[in-house]
Amino acid sequence: MKAIKRLFLILLALVAMMLTACGNESTDTSGDTVIGDGGHSHSYGERQLQSPENTPCEERIYFQVCGECKEVKWLQGTEKDHKWSTETVAPTCGGEGYDLYTCSSCGKEKKATMFPTIFSIIPGR
Ligand SMILES: [Zn+2]
Ligand SMILES: [Zn+2]
Repeated sequence: MKAIKRLFLILLALVAMMLTACGNESTDTSGDTVIGDGGHSHSYGERQLQSPENTPCEERIYFQVCGECKEVKWLQGTEKDHKWSTETVAPTCGGEGYDLYTCSSCGKEKKATMFPTIFSIIPGR
């Protein structure tokens, strides 16, 4: 019985440690103010692109440098970094119409909002 109680306490301690570890983790991804080792708040500059220009936005690697201690922080891009501009392509006899989204940052394209072909709009008899 004693052994079980000890095991329980160890488990409890482990859970507590895990919780504390999670609490310490920075959930702040915008990263404007992070307290550094020197006791100052890092003031990171502009996000700078490390990857080649043609890398899709969500795979890009960026870095920011603290203006004070020159510490470098690495960031990965996300889907949200795409800057979509929309172009509507009208349906033709041969094909569907769609909204064509083009990212002005990385050139990635995606199609959305498919319109049926003209054939299927006009009931063919
Ligand atoms: Zn700093
Ligand atoms: Zn993009």
